[in-house]
Amino acid sequence: MKKALIVGMIVLAGWAAREGKGSDKKDLFVVAYHNYAGVPPEVLQMTQTDVAMIFDKAGIELEWVALPVPGHDTGPAVYWPSATPMCFLRLMPDSMLKPFRRSDDELGFASGPNVYIHAEHIQRLADRAKFSSAKLLGYIVAHEIGHVLLGGGGHSSAGIMRPKIGPAALLHLEWPVQSFSPAEARRLSDGLLRAWLSY
Ligand SMILES: [Zn+2]
Repeated sequence: MKKALIVGMIVLAGWAAREGKGSDKKDLFVVAYHNYAGVPPEVLQMTQTDVAMIFDKAGIELEWVALPVPGHDTGPAVYWPSATPMCFLRLMPDSMLKPFRRSDDELGFASGPNVYIHAEHIQRLADRAKFSSAKLLGYIVAHEIGHVLLGGGGHSSAGIMRPKIGPAALLHLEWPVQSFSPAEARRLSDGLLRAWLSY
């Protein structure tokens, strides 16, 4: 109960701040997430900071809203501002992947406003590459949220929207320098505007 209220208050505070900005309202995007994989809070915090930075560079402000995980959290439904473009992010453990996963290499995918992140698989990949799991998780989360806003054909040959990543690529991953390209940032902005207009 207490946790849900705090989340609601954070969202409301962010909303109020944006109301004061007037025309900037459209660049707010809510990421409501379920941490089914039990990603530790400190890892999640780093991931959220990195992803927020990536989208901030592209002119979009992210608002994170933790949704309850059945069996772990209790409380009433979490509040977020209505009529706000949003996606639903699920951090998935291996045990929940069977109905969703389409290949062994897949680290995550997006379908409409729904984002599925293979959190335990990402953790193993990061461990093998001796790379920060928080940063790799952030990279994948940013990529998949990118798909939500970019729509079809979101991949590019370089940057955050390249379709494949492996241990070798991690060595060259400049973080958090990598973000969306200026052209992608414009398409993200268009995607957000479309989402606003659909409400
Ligand atoms: Zn992709």
